[in-house]
Amino acid sequence: MNLKVISSGMLNLAVRRFAGPFWLRRKWLEKSQWLSDKQIRQIQLNLLQRLIRHCYDSVPYYRQIMDRLGIAPEDIKSLEDINRFPIISKRNVLGAGDSILSKRYPKLLLRKAYTGGTTGTPMRIYRNLFSIGNEHAFVRRQWDWANIGFNDRCAYLTGRLVVKPDQKANKLYAYDPIMKELILSTYHLSSKSAKNFAMVMKKYRVKAVVGYPSAVYLLARTCLDAGIELELKSTLTSSETLTDSMRKTIVEAFNCKVFDFYGGAERICYIFTCERGSYHIIPEYGLTELIPVDSLNRNICRIVSSGFWNYAMPFVRYDTGDIVVKSEESCSCGRQFQVIKSISGRQADSIRTPSGREFGAAILTHLLYGTDHILESQIVQDTLGHITIQYVPTENFSVQDMNNFKSLIAKHLPGELKVDFKKVKIVKKTDCGRLKPVLSKIEGQVDRL
Ligand SMILES: [Zn+2]
Repeated sequence: MNLKVISSGMLNLAVRRFAGPFWLRRKWLEKSQWLSDKQIRQIQLNLLQRLIRHCYDSVPYYRQIMDRLGIAPEDIKSLEDINRFPIISKRNVLGAGDSILSKRYPKLLLRKAYTGGTTGTPMRIYRNLFSIGNEHAFVRRQWDWANIGFNDRCAYLTGRLVVKPDQKANKLYAYDPIMKELILSTYHLSSKSAKNFAMVMKKYRVKAVVGYPSAVYLLARTCLDAGIELELKSTLTSSETLTDSMRKTIVEAFNCKVFDFYGGAERICYIFTCERGSYHIIPEYGLTELIPVDSLNRNICRIVSSGFWNYAMPFVRYDTGDIVVKSEESCSCGRQFQVIKSISGRQADSIRTPSGREFGAAILTHLLYGTDHILESQIVQDTLGHITIQYVPTENFSVQDMNNFKSLIAKHLPGELKVDFKKVKIVKKTDCGRLKPVLSKIEGQVDRL
C-alpha cells in the first residue's frame, strides 16, 4: 500500500465530494441537461450576472476595466452584453498579477493549479474550494454519459508522477483505493511497459482508461499486437488531438466507445462527446463564445469563454488560444447543447528518447509547471538524444526561476536526454498563429495521421 497515494486520495475525496456543493450540483446537472434552449440561456444569464457582479465588487482588475468602459453590473441584461467587455489573453492575465484574484478569498486557503496542454508556458491558477466541488459534479455528469459509475476502477495515463523518470522501479504504477484510481506512469510508457500496464489493469479489473490520446493509443496498439484483451466500458481521452486512426485502433483494441473531451485548468470551457459521439459545449459551465477566425469558413472559430464557477480567479472573455470547427447540426441525444465538429489546434509533435520512450505534448508541459515569469516556451527536439527549450522570460525572471526550471526538467525527464536552454525574444508561430509547444526536427516521426 502506498500511503502517500492513499492520503492524497482521502484529501481528494474530501475536497471534491464533501467540502463543496458536489451532491447538490450533481442533482441540478442531471436535470438541466434536458432543458430547452431558452431555459438554458436563462440559466446562463443568471450565472453571468452573478459573476460580473462579483468581479465588480471584489476583483480589482475587472473593476478597473468596467469603470474605464463605463459598465455597471446591472448593465448586463442579456448574454450579448458580454460583448461590452474586452477579450483578454494569457499575457493580460500574467500582467495583471494578483489584481485578477478576488479579495474575498485569503490566498492561503486557495488551491493552486497550472494550465497545460496546448498553449506553451503554463499559467498559475487559483481556485476556491467551493469551485472544486462544482467542477467534479460536472466531471461526474460527463462520466455518467460514458457509463462509468462511482465504483468502477479507472486507469490513468496522464501526467501524474508515480516514480521518477530515471528510476528503474519494478512498480511503475500506484493504486488509490479511495478514489479507485490506478495511476500508471506515462513517463515510462513504451511498448514494453505498456504490456505490463495492460496486465496490471487486468489484475485490478479496471473498467475505464483515462489519458492522453498518444498514450492510450500506444497502450491499445500494444494490446492488439500482443493479443491482450481488456474488458473496458469506456475510454476517455483529452489534451491532445485524437485522430480518426487513433480512435479506430482504440475501439478495436478495447471494444468500447471513446469519449474525447476538452477542458483546461482555467475551467472556463468544457467540451465533451455524448453517447451519440457528438462534441458538445457544456453550457452550464461557462459562457463560451465561438469567434470566427477565417473569413472564408465562418465555422472555424477560436474559443473565448467566461467561467461561471471559480470566483477566486475569475476569467471573463478569456481567449484560450484553441480553435474548434463549429457545427450547425443538432444532436440526436436530445440535449440542446452547441455541437462542435472537431477540436483542432492541439497538434504538436512528440519527443522520443534513445531507449524508445515517447513523450506527448501534454505530458511535456509538466516540465514548466511552477516556473514563474516565462511568457512563452517551446521544446525543440534537435537530435534523438537532445532537446532545446526556448523560452521568453519576463522582466522579473530571476536566477531562482531558472533553477526551478532546471530542477523540474531533472525531475520529469530521463537523463538520457540532454537539455539546453535558449533565451529568445519570441517563439516562432505556425502559419495560423499558433504556438506549437513541442517541435520535433528528427526524422522517423510516428505517423498517426
Ligand atoms: Zn449529443
